[in-house]
Amino acid sequence: MLIFRIFNSQDAERILRIPISLTGKEDSYYWTHSQNGQYTVQSGYKTWMMEKNLESTRRREETGTSYEGTISKIWKTLWKQKVSQKMKVFIWKCLHGGLPVRAELHRRTRQGNPICIGCRDKEETLEHLLIQCTKAKEIWKMAPVQWDGNMELLDCFIRWWTAIMEAQQDRGREDQVNLTINILWQIWKARNDREFNYKEREPHKIIQRAMKEWTEFDEANKGNVVRKNTQETEIQQRTEQEPGQNESQTSLLIKIHTHQDKRQAIVGIGITATDSLGQIQAGWALRERLSTEPIQDQAVAVRLALLNAISQGWSSIRVELDIKELMECIKGSRQCNHMMATLMEDIQFISNQFHKCSFSFANTGIVGSIKLSLHALNIWIDEEWVNPTLRC
Ligand SMILES: [Zn+2]
Repeated sequence: MLIFRIFNSQDAERILRIPISLTGKEDSYYWTHSQNGQYTVQSGYKTWMMEKNLESTRRREETGTSYEGTISKIWKTLWKQKVSQKMKVFIWKCLHGGLPVRAELHRRTRQGNPICIGCRDKEETLEHLLIQCTKAKEIWKMAPVQWDGNMELLDCFIRWWTAIMEAQQDRGREDQVNLTINILWQIWKARNDREFNYKEREPHKIIQRAMKEWTEFDEANKGNVVRKNTQETEIQQRTEQEPGQNESQTSLLIKIHTHQDKRQAIVGIGITATDSLGQIQAGWALRERLSTEPIQDQAVAVRLALLNAISQGWSSIRVELDIKELMECIKGSRQCNHMMATLMEDIQFISNQFHKCSFSFANTGIVGSIKLSLHALNIWIDEEWVNPTLRC
């Protein structure tokens, strides 16, 4: 089933019906790259992953430690969990306030209905949807995981998650965390089924699906050496996991362009992925808050591009940047300030998750990403186009 919706700012209700790619690869993909090279906006979805609005940053900072420091730590623990890549990106989005829940869409567009359709009682915030909603509570009550004493942390996902991670470290409850991630993922999928397909999933079915996917993943990964925290081991493992696939896989060229709009205090980000024949295979138009320096905006864009590539399951990419200074930062040959250093650390970390990932400088052939970055200045909701038959 393909969902075609022409997005405009008056159509917030329609936005709410558009699924995000993480939830339903099988039915929400489409491809609209037209002959004349013009992009047609036929669908949109939310992938804003790195929202740093003051309100939520302040809320997160109330947890006691610095937001960036906390995130960086939990992120690294998250990447070591034995769950699929899509679930890691999903949790990562949750931690960054990047899930398109109703309250968030409402806050951004000032349109649509922020109320949760599960209980029709409270606003659908991330915490409400995943933990506090009566629907979520029914699921957690049945779930074979126990996180005692975390009830008072239910108002902040990051705090809740940090507590779970700490419990894992203290008590060696890795399986429980992996299952918890699977359950959160299934709650989100059930939510989208309710939201877009008007289908209600039974709590015990949600648990069953989570258990099934978790055990299947566990089975599939049995026999693999326990992942060590070194790049070499990870690269070796990925090679072992993908025998014979590499012949048919080619790396995608990713080009990124950012366009600042000081009046709106936003930056439009355009990302394109082209194959070896120069055909555009995917494109993203994303918007972020303007940061203090253009180079920082570009770094944020690179981080988003890498995460999008990961969530597509791509294993081999080449990234071309059109800002020389950023290349130098990534290579470590240029001094960075604190904010940039954090971004560089993230970029290094995510790029290590690929089988192959390289960076180079080039300021040619970026027409597609420029167009998308300009387009991004006029949208409310981030947009993506992906060739559904693409393998990389
Ligand atoms: Zn609810």
